[in-house]
Amino acid sequence: MVKTSKGKKLTIAIDGPSGAGKSTVAKALARRLDYVYIDTGAMYRSVALKAKEKGISQEDKLGLHRLASSLRINFMTDGDQVHVLCDGKDVTEAIRTPEISRLASAISKEKELREVLVRMQREMGRKGGVILEGRDIGTVVFPDAEVKFYLDAEGEERAKRRYHEMVEKGIKVDFKETREALMQRDLHDMHRDHSPLKKAEDALVIDSTQQSVKEVVAEMVRIIKERI
Ligand code: C5P
Repeated sequence: MVKTSKGKKLTIAIDGPSGAGKSTVAKALARRLDYVYIDTGAMYRSVALKAKEKGISQEDKLGLHRLASSLRINFMTDGDQVHVLCDGKDVTEAIRTPEISRLASAISKEKELREVLVRMQREMGRKGGVILEGRDIGTVVFPDAEVKFYLDAEGEERAKRRYHEMVEKGIKVDFKETREALMQRDLHDMHRDHSPLKKAEDALVIDSTQQSVKEVVAEMVRIIKERI
C-alpha cells in the first residue's frame, strides 16, 4: 500500500468526461497501489435504475432525494471485476445500458440528490487509501485530495471506446447514436448548475487519446510517487 513518509494513505481523484478511460485506469491504479476504488458514476447510475424501477420521475426532486437516502450502495471486488451492489442486489450490468446512462446524467443535476451521494462518497473515502472516479471529485467531494487527475481524450476516440465497450457487453448499439448520446451527456454534465464537470485548478491533465491504459497508469504512478 502506497503511503507518505508520515504513513498517510492518499486520496486520489480522477475526473473527466465519458469514455476517457477513467474506470479502466482507476481500477488498474487501485490494484497497483493496493487502494480502494470507488466508482461514483455507478452510484448515480444505481439511483437512476431504482428510480426507473419504482416509477420515480426525473423531475421529482423530493422522491429522488428520499430514494437516494434510502439506498445501500456497495462495491465488491472480485479479482479484476468490481461489482456494484444496490440494496444487496448485483446491478453491475443493469446500470450500463444507454437508457440508464442518459437517466443518470438527467437526475445528477439535482442538488439534493447530489448532497446525499457526496456524503456517502466522503464517508467511503474518509480513511484515505482510495481512488475516486467521477465528475466532481477534485472540485467538490474531496477538494483537498493529495493527487488530482483530469483524464481527457478526443471526442471521436471516446465515442469509439464507448461503442466497443457496449458491443463487447452484447448491447446492440449504433455508432452514430452512441457518439451523439455521449456528446449530449458531456454537454449536460459540463453545463449543469450544481457541480458541473470541470477541471480542478490543481488537477493534472492527462490526454489518453494516443495512450494505452498501461501508459496512462504508468504516468499516474510516476506522478503519485513524486508527490510522496
Ligand atoms: O461515470 P459514469 O459515466 O458512470 O457516470 C454516469 C453519470 O453520472 C454521468 O454522466 C454524470 O451525469 C453523473 N455523475 C456525476 N458526478 C459524478 C459521477 C457521475 O454527476 N461524480
